[in-house]
Amino acid sequence: MSGTRITDNTPMAVTRSRLPDRDDFYRLLDGIFERGWLTNNGLCVRNLERELGLFLGTEPPLACVNGTVALMLALHVAGLDGKKVALTPYTYVATLSALLWQGCRPVFVDVNPATLCLDPAKLDEAFEREPDIAGVLPVHIYGMACDVEKIGEICSRRGAVCLYDGAQAFASWLHGRSLLDYGDLSICSFHATKLFHSAEGGCVLGAKYHEALTRARAFGHVGDTHYTLGINAKMSELNAAMGLAMLPGTQREVEMRKNAHAAYDALLDGLPLQRPELLTGQDWNHAYYPVLFPSGKLREKALGALLARGIQPRRYFYPSLNTLPYLEAGLRRPCPAAEDAAGRVLCLPLYGEMPEADIRLVSDVVRGAFSA
Ligand SMILES: *Cc1c(COP(=O)(O)O)cnc(C)c1O
Repeated sequence: MSGTRITDNTPMAVTRSRLPDRDDFYRLLDGIFERGWLTNNGLCVRNLERELGLFLGTEPPLACVNGTVALMLALHVAGLDGKKVALTPYTYVATLSALLWQGCRPVFVDVNPATLCLDPAKLDEAFEREPDIAGVLPVHIYGMACDVEKIGEICSRRGAVCLYDGAQAFASWLHGRSLLDYGDLSICSFHATKLFHSAEGGCVLGAKYHEALTRARAFGHVGDTHYTLGINAKMSELNAAMGLAMLPGTQREVEMRKNAHAAYDALLDGLPLQRPELLTGQDWNHAYYPVLFPSGKLREKALGALLARGIQPRRYFYPSLNTLPYLEAGLRRPCPAAEDAAGRVLCLPLYGEMPEADIRLVSDVVRGAFSA
């Protein structure tokens, strides 16, 4: 794998899906063939949930078909359908889509320009303006912790449900605690592009809602007893097998990404690039390598130069979601900090096995955008 970018013309994507040990995966698949059990809370799903709980130091999370549906499920059991929910505009579009799909009314709250996470002071202002906000949906963007203490305090003072989108926050810790362990509820994504994945998949955590989540995840009934409105959010055995085979390599992937970060940091040293700030007490998963250029013009120049060399970074996260064209006008409130960041950010290619030569090439092209 290493060095392929240099010797052939394969484009270099923003990331490359990690694959598990083939023998581990095939052994798990053999088990599925022997049992002839493909889904509906099978052995692989139950084992994955137990292993995830041990890894994260949490209750066993409930495995789901993907992160977006996990979010929809969480919004639903928290009673937020159709209600006002405050959220950050600086995130992947799925955060908002889940909310709109549940008929919630989004109230965009701007980010802190240093951390790029939801700004607690602005959240307080939003509650002053709109006391009927029933839930708050912040995102640990790039796996970097939100100000969970202040946000938690505001939510309990206002009686609002706090639901974290931790889709990018697997293997990120704050004061030794998994980021997925904060809030009334939280979700994670196990999509193939995430640090830990099951090809497609996700999970939801929320001790208080455990039974409601379990029921709603599988159509809301057990046998012929129908308890509640449900949906199909179950993870299949095939995805769970992928997750089980992937989990053991996760900490090593974090270490390798950390090393890749250090290489980028050294090669880009001296350039006026801003990085999002980490809270103190955080042990970050280093899942992404985001940099903010001094201007949108320079970002576009760097992006153009990278694309011309077959390197495909992503403008994670552009556009700021409060500017989406399909939103009704009344919802498109200005969020200057998020819009500014979205206009200047670029996530450079990053994955554990990324060859040092590729990191050097990307860095050289970025550096070139600053000269002349
Ligand atoms: C990936 C992602 C999602 C969606 O997760 P899927 O598993 O792809 O449905 C939601 N929110 C954020 C912030 C994400 O990065």
